Amino acid sequence: MRKADRKDVLKNRRVIQSLIFLSVIFVFLGIVLWRNTSRGSTAYVERDDFIFGTLVRVVVASEKQDPETIIDAMIQEMKRIESKFHPYHNGSSVIFKLNHSSKAMTVDEETAFLISKSLYYSKLTAGAFDPALGRLIKLWGFDSPDTEKKLPKPEEIQEALKASGYRNVKVNVKEVLLENGVWLDLGGIAKGYAVDQAVRIAKRMDENATGFVDAGGDIAIIGPKFGQYPWKIGIRDPRGGPQDIVGVVYLSEGAIATSGDYERYFEVEGIRYHHILDPQTGYPARKAISATVIAKKLVDADALATAAFVLGWHKIVEGFVGIGAQAMIIDAEGNTFKTRGFSAYEKE
Ligand code: AMP
Ligand code: MG
Repeated sequence: MRKADRKDVLKNRRVIQSLIFLSVIFVFLGIVLWRNTSRGSTAYVERDDFIFGTLVRVVVASEKQDPETIIDAMIQEMKRIESKFHPYHNGSSVIFKLNHSSKAMTVDEETAFLISKSLYYSKLTAGAFDPALGRLIKLWGFDSPDTEKKLPKPEEIQEALKASGYRNVKVNVKEVLLENGVWLDLGGIAKGYAVDQAVRIAKRMDENATGFVDAGGDIAIIGPKFGQYPWKIGIRDPRGGPQDIVGVVYLSEGAIATSGDYERYFEVEGIRYHHILDPQTGYPARKAISATVIAKKLVDADALATAAFVLGWHKIVEGFVGIGAQAMIIDAEGNTFKTRGFSAYEKE
């Protein structure tokens, strides 16, 4: 063999070796990329904001849209709803206007929907959920975190009770009339509705978007983690710190809401007075210290959790199963009760 030929053979061998090496690298890269796409290649983007007097965390991944754009739209929607339904300090809110009108008022479709939904839950829960407690809530100072909290006199509570109660709210399609001077306060349901709307917007921008919204422990799922794993959600220990939990549930879809006496309260002589009122007495409800509800939509879980908090472990709460919801109640003695079907969510 000529010297030049041998050189050519060596060169060819080196080229072949390099080609093999490169193909191995490409195959390897291909596998890594494929694995990533099969688990959702886009990373989760998180954002925190302060809405409805609570920390709201939005977590979104999307392969179709910039998650930041989706989150912008979601937060804007939640803030729109917050200000629209604020009952006390926003003169341009529809609820403020209703509360200060002695005549029937024609409202927009969304407002009529949310008031009607509230009244549906009042009837379903024998009045435990009551959207017409505005006078009482203001009297107790739970209208805003900045309002001075005070223990009202019994006669003041009786007075405010007379101007409270869902039976005084009349809705005829889009016409709303508040009788006996009652004030609406949709604080027990509006946050759930707002989060559902935000999730709807995320889905409209990318039907395959995944993630969740956590509004102070009330959570709605956009889609399962990486498109396939359930999100692990801790249920807060009502007598522990913000990080202490009493249980865990796994959700790939749907929503979960918890009402607790630790969210907003003040103490007088060792007694805790909190923000969820028993519509029958006008005082903070005492039958539970925490109530959790899982449902398809957060609007439903939110209203039902507030109602379950008032009712405690009651046959009406056991009946939530009939409308597709599950509940867990912790009573004042620390006993835990669960509807049949709740435990299915406790397994991964
Ligand atoms: P949540 O944290 O969802 O249980 O809602 C509590 C909020 O709902 C309170 O801050 C009030 O604005 C309002 N609220 C208080 N008591 C009731 C009740 N019995 N039914 C409906 N809403 C209530
Ligand atoms: Mg609620």
